[in-house]
Amino acid sequence: MPSYDAVVIGTGQSGPALARRLVAAGRKVAIIERKLFGGTCVNTGCTPTKTLVASAYAAHIVRRASDYGVTVAGTPNVDMKAVKARKDSIVAASRNGVERSLKTLEGCTVYEGHGRFVAEKKVAVNGSELAADQIFINVGARAVIPPIAGLDRVPYLTNSSMMDIDFLPAHLVILGGSYIGLEFAQMYRRFGSEVTVIELGPHLIPREDEDVAEAVADFLKDERIDVRVDSKVVEVEKQGNAIAVKVESAGKSSQVIGTHVLVAIGRRPNTDDLGLERAGIATDARGYIQVDDQLRTNVPGVWAMGDCNGRGAFTHTSWNDFEIVAANLLDNDRRRLSDRITAYALYTDPPLGRAGMTEAEVRKAGKPALISTLAMENVSRARERGETKGFMKVLVDRDSKQILGASFLGLAGDEVIHCVLDVMYAKAPYTVMQRAMHIHPTVSEFIPTMIGDLKPLQ
Ligand SMILES: Cc1cc2nc3c(=O)[nH]c(=O)nc-3n(C[C@H](O)[C@H](O)[C@H](O)COP(=O)(O)OP(=O)(O)OC[C@H]3O[C@@H](n4cnc5c(N)ncnc54)[C@H](O)[C@@H]3O)c2cc1C
Repeated sequence: MPSYDAVVIGTGQSGPALARRLVAAGRKVAIIERKLFGGTCVNTGCTPTKTLVASAYAAHIVRRASDYGVTVAGTPNVDMKAVKARKDSIVAASRNGVERSLKTLEGCTVYEGHGRFVAEKKVAVNGSELAADQIFINVGARAVIPPIAGLDRVPYLTNSSMMDIDFLPAHLVILGGSYIGLEFAQMYRRFGSEVTVIELGPHLIPREDEDVAEAVADFLKDERIDVRVDSKVVEVEKQGNAIAVKVESAGKSSQVIGTHVLVAIGRRPNTDDLGLERAGIATDARGYIQVDDQLRTNVPGVWAMGDCNGRGAFTHTSWNDFEIVAANLLDNDRRRLSDRITAYALYTDPPLGRAGMTEAEVRKAGKPALISTLAMENVSRARERGETKGFMKVLVDRDSKQILGASFLGLAGDEVIHCVLDVMYAKAPYTVMQRAMHIHPTVSEFIPTMIGDLKPLQ
């Protein structure tokens, strides 16, 4: 039986980085990947979607060229085969980079197959059993397929199968109006598809504040995306070449006839076929591996990192998990999960950058707080760029003066949010930002102004 100091299952965002650190520390390491090196982010998540978002943005700007005084002859055409080829080449470069770096890493053995626990410290792969004192699980997550009547009889798409599309769906119906669904919605609308988004909750992106969700819905509707909230998909049926999606909303039934259906209603961890029960590793009711503040499972010597532990669902949270595990194991640095501040982005155009608490969370916590908002129409850089949709909002603790959270929906919101995030990590009072001199003309230059206009949260 091959024996290692450490076995890593999965090559997502934390596994490969940890393997490199362990090898550098002189450990004998094995890493197991059952499908595509680099996992979700590289192959079916962040990288391909942001590449496609960039193509969609280019199409949008070409259509708007006359707003900038630029004349384009004829109607712009989106060549979906070329769009996919661009996406594929960027994805392949990243995937091959991860694969090459692991396969050439001295001290690390790569196994290509499905890894499964057969005992507490034993993992089977391709008929071999690997023993190790330390095992790191980085198996990620996949799309939830809900038990909707008829869904199993239609050729539905997920974020993974969307990656194979090299044609324009005439009418894409998206089940789920949250982060993944909305990125695909705007991108395919800009490529030229009709798009309908069906969301069960009372507003889009249910975890966000209502005013943020309303503003997102408004700009999607401006692009003639059919947005339906408070709507439950009850049945899906093939009708010739089309797919009928039956919807119930406020007691009324209706149907949307599309050509393609994308299921984007959530994610579930890849822990159902991992033999966790053979190792006695505890999960919650949804299958997420339970971890403590240092990412340790209930079994000593076994850690879970990334989406499969349910403590984050982003590339940066998975990477941060790696940093926490490596710091504690190798650097005698007691970093903790609880040190982390919520931060993420929604990559619509304009994007939403988020840090810390939402306004709804602040209200629920009953904290005495101050709030300031600023419409992007007031930001000169946004006006100069002709991209004035959205608004910025920041909340601070009235007593400690520390920033509680921010939502920046607007031009460069995904970048500008880091101004706030770093001050939050520094635990500095907002007054530090108020006195900072920012560069003109940028979106960020308005943050000191906005912070200077805080009012009590009513
Ligand atoms: C459409 C979409 C867009 C996204 N966009 C963003 C974004 O813009 N920004 C962002 O931060 N996040 C984004 N995410 C989320 C992000 O992709 C994930 O959070 C990130 O990839 C972290 O994943 P991970 O490290 O947990 O594992 P993953 O990247 O999911 O990798 C897990 C790996 O483990 C392998 N594996 C699973 N089970 C086994 C097994 N039993 N044996 C061997 N190998 C196994 C899998 O094949 C996979 O390669 C997006 C996700 C989706 C779906």
